[in-house]
Amino acid sequence: SVEIRDLTLAFGEIQVLRKVSLKVAPGTTTCIIGPSGSGKSTLLRGINRLHEPQSGDVIVSGRSVLKDKPDALRLRIGMVFQHFNLFPDHTALENVAMAPWKIKKLPKAKAYQLAADRLKEVGLEQRADHRPRYLSGGQQQRVAIARALAMDPEVMLFDEATSALDPELVKGVLNLMADLCQRGMTMIVVTHEMGFARKVADQVVFMDEGEIVEAGTPGEIFDNPQSARLRRFLSEVL
Ligand code: ATP
Ligand code: MG
Repeated sequence: SVEIRDLTLAFGEIQVLRKVSLKVAPGTTTCIIGPSGSGKSTLLRGINRLHEPQSGDVIVSGRSVLKDKPDALRLRIGMVFQHFNLFPDHTALENVAMAPWKIKKLPKAKAYQLAADRLKEVGLEQRADHRPRYLSGGQQQRVAIARALAMDPEVMLFDEATSALDPELVKGVLNLMADLCQRGMTMIVVTHEMGFARKVADQVVFMDEGEIVEAGTPGEIFDNPQSARLRRFLSEVL
């Protein structure tokens, strides 16, 4: 589970998150939607402390992230970015094995076996020895997902995981994310894919100007929006 309590985050004078509170039950998927600049990425980065919040707290599986060192946090929270962020000079297999070996301190052979298993799960066992530049965007993103899964995270954060992909590659990555959801992973997914949010999310959250304006089931958010801001946003994206 994830519980965000009154999270406040500013860059200098600019207040980007204003007392954001949100609960994500174990094994559920929450999709975050909202206009560009509304603070969606900053919220994810506040959860795993890539940006340090000014105040508030985030409780993951009962433990405050403020109590953990960055490496320990990375054991607990998986993150997948728009631009994959793979290590360019390492093969797919090495990319996935790295953190279990170096951070989790598994024996090297174990880490590589685990990495091979995870690559297989995302359908890339044939590409294990390729470097990122020899993989398609969709394959690179699946390696990035396998890499995050290899740490057995308590929660997975996705920031526009499909936005940089060619249209024909988007579906494979969305299907993989839907599979993870089905298998009971706890996920927070920032997405522009309204079809995915409607179909897969247990909860949809609409952010605007650093606040959560509305949260509810996909039906509540997409079919029965309460605020003018959400109605305007939906009229622009749907
Ligand atoms: P998008 O849909 O375009 O990805 P977003 O909802 O993810 O937008 P954020 O990236 O969280 O929005 O940005 C929220 C606000 O914070 C914006 O006004 C942005 O300019 C500002 N911001 C984000 N990162 C930084 C930073 N490192 N330094 C200063 N300001 C930042
Ligand atoms: Mg963003």
